[in-house]
Amino acid sequence: MEKHKHCINCGISIPPEEIFCSEKCREEYMKKRKKAMRNQQMFLLMMILVIAIYVAVMFFK
Ligand SMILES: [Zn+2]
Repeated sequence: MEKHKHCINCGISIPPEEIFCSEKCREEYMKKRKKAMRNQQMFLLMMILVIAIYVAVMFFK
């Protein structure tokens, strides 16, 4: 079997020592990941807020 990897952004075949096929793909992937991480943080923040409100309601009833 031929040894090769796939660009983790666009999926095309690349040499095994590479992660991305091009600098542009790397930038694109980093941007996407940053956005995804922000969404995850927002979700986590909302969950904490909901739990905090729930706990507050339980305590001060
Ligand atoms: Zn690519």
